[in-house]
Amino acid sequence: MLRKIFVTALILFVLTNFAFAAEKQPKKSVWQPELRVGIKSDVTQVGLKVSAPCIMIDPATKKTLKKIPANKNFVVDFAQMKTKAVEIRPEKILLKDLKSTIDGREYFGGVRVNKLKASLTVINLVPTEEYLRGVVGEEMSPAYPLEALKAQAVAARSFALKNRGRHEKDGYDVCATTHCQVYAGFEDFEIVNKAVDETRGQVLVFKEKIADANFHADSGGMTEAVADVWGTNVAYLVPVKELLELTAPWTKKFSAKDFASRFGDGFGDLKSIKLSKLTVGKKSNDRTDSGRVKSAQLVGTKKTLTVTGTDMRRKFSLPSTLFDMKLDGGEVVFTGYGSGHGVGMSQQGAKSYALKDWKFDKILSHYYSGTKLKKLY
Ligand SMILES: [Zn+2]
Repeated sequence: MLRKIFVTALILFVLTNFAFAAEKQPKKSVWQPELRVGIKSDVTQVGLKVSAPCIMIDPATKKTLKKIPANKNFVVDFAQMKTKAVEIRPEKILLKDLKSTIDGREYFGGVRVNKLKASLTVINLVPTEEYLRGVVGEEMSPAYPLEALKAQAVAARSFALKNRGRHEKDGYDVCATTHCQVYAGFEDFEIVNKAVDETRGQVLVFKEKIADANFHADSGGMTEAVADVWGTNVAYLVPVKELLELTAPWTKKFSAKDFASRFGDGFGDLKSIKLSKLTVGKKSNDRTDSGRVKSAQLVGTKKTLTVTGTDMRRKFSLPSTLFDMKLDGGEVVFTGYGSGHGVGMSQQGAKSYALKDWKFDKILSHYYSGTKLKKLY
């Protein structure tokens, strides 16, 4: 009998404690990865403010250094501390509900400041979904249709989580510029919030790994194989046709003299240009599968050069490598289509598919061949 009571008590004890432990865990729908976004580097001081009471923590020891009151300007004074880094996190509310002001600009989440010799690096500690609220509307116009913005939200989430730690040597995950993704901090566009919320936690995966979801403004008619831009083959970043062709037309002109001078004294004057004519989706010796310029031959009075389309784009700040070029009188005239590297999703293309009633998942599987959607959280 005693033994029976003991066993029952033991079971009850285990059960109640298990329930207690389970309750203490954050709910699955609440949990999300935290990102460290680099906001400022090489500054000597930074002005901060938080929207709710916070604590300043030494991230190395996790010890609280001091309490920070809400809505009061403050600076981090390392001269008064032994630590080389501090984190400012909310005392009672969730990180996603805190807003921090860094030098007058508002951000979701908290702040970390790292001291490196005499300079400071200021990092925004932000939950992924809140980060996306400040990214999606910067990378794609909030005037685009919801399904295009949802595709953008998934692409941006995949990119951020795939590239976490890209700036590890700088002390953070991603930067806030076009190098990673443009992040404006706190933003409140209703349609962007909806696009983020309706795709919460969803990323693109290929063979169970998060996909590198590159995107660009406008392909001009067909997207480009990643290998033709950055050299390495990726199974899901292959050329696909667009609904519309020859979009975003552009023209750029240079005097033949100016053009030739960019190739140095050894080139001489420009005599002629050899490049096959552009047809979207038609490959040739000097063009890739999508029709972008692989290379063009420039015949000079002193020598002939073979220049890649990518080099030409960089040298002359061309919107894309989907172009024709000719020597016309004393001018070199580029006529091209599209904008951006052409890899992965075309944002303009996503918009045109959304207007044809395609849902975001269909748009994504069109641009990222063979990938699947996965809900991470
Ligand atoms: Zn970056």
